[in-house]
Amino acid sequence: MKRAILFALILGVVNAGAQSRNTSQVLSIYLVDVEGGNATLFVSPSGESVLIDTGNVAPGAARDAERIMAAAKDAGISQINTLITTHWHNDHFGGMAELANRLPIRHFVDHGPNVQPAAAPDEFLQKVYPTLYGKSTHTVVKPGDRIPIAGLEWRIVSAGGQTIKTRLPGAQQANPFCGGFKPHTVNPVSGLPVGNTEDEQSVGSHVTFGRFRAVHLGDLTWNKEFELMCPENRLGTADLFVASRHGQPSSNSELLVHAIRPRVAIVNNAARKGGQGDAMRVLYTSPGLEGIWQAHYSLLGGREYAVPGIFIANESEETPHDGEAHWIKVLARADGTFTVTNSRNGFSRSY
Ligand SMILES: [Zn+2]
Repeated sequence: MKRAILFALILGVVNAGAQSRNTSQVLSIYLVDVEGGNATLFVSPSGESVLIDTGNVAPGAARDAERIMAAAKDAGISQINTLITTHWHNDHFGGMAELANRLPIRHFVDHGPNVQPAAAPDEFLQKVYPTLYGKSTHTVVKPGDRIPIAGLEWRIVSAGGQTIKTRLPGAQQANPFCGGFKPHTVNPVSGLPVGNTEDEQSVGSHVTFGRFRAVHLGDLTWNKEFELMCPENRLGTADLFVASRHGQPSSNSELLVHAIRPRVAIVNNAARKGGQGDAMRVLYTSPGLEGIWQAHYSLLGGREYAVPGIFIANESEETPHDGEAHWIKVLARADGTFTVTNSRNGFSRSY
């Protein structure tokens, strides 16, 4: 009898030890450098993971999948619980099949069919994607949906060209930045007419961990930002903003950025994509902003708009740079404080 009790006690200690190894008190976020695409990995304190996008199509696909794997290894995860593909552009879904060859993906999330016919996504969606999600689960999300991740509140705020129509809990502000809105009729970067492209379809996420809040809207466009944020600020304020559309001025309006008042913005730009002055100026003038971090030095922003090099994860000016790459890592705590680290130089700053 005594021996049975002793055994139960030992078992309890062993179990408690195993649990503490698999859980932490922090939410980890990796902004993986995928050369001007997107791949942002969230690992919750429970060890569950959400990856937003998988980087570029070939020839960058294997490179980007390997870079995501390096972040997964650093985080100690052996699967992706949920993969959100924001939209069907080559720089957002491109590494998916390569990544799925390297680690299991349990749940695939997207906005639905491709609205902008193009060879690469159409072939992928017909021939590859169904075989990937066929072994797992697949959800087409709409604004207002939630992604079930233990320890986090993960809300979808845009998808399929629609945005949430009601305020998130705690978002009670009018938005004073709506008045000066000038809609885009052409994309100021490409010069092409704006309209029914995949960017407008982006799956946008709002993530809450205790008092910490993060906003990641994929490549949601300038005009969709207005629909999401006006006449009232439906998102409230955020601690971390992953700049939309790689920090291009075809997104990142004041009525979004200044209204959510991020404490830190991270720009997932490349040397020749994103980080232009018009977008960086909106970040620099955002009320309450304490820091900007960049995946790359931007030749488009140049010295005028670049942050000090210590905040830049990759300084290569090659396009693309296929060698060693570095991420920006955020460790967020439930009290709302967080620490950002540049993996290239080890520099950290707490907010
Ligand atoms: Zn993009």
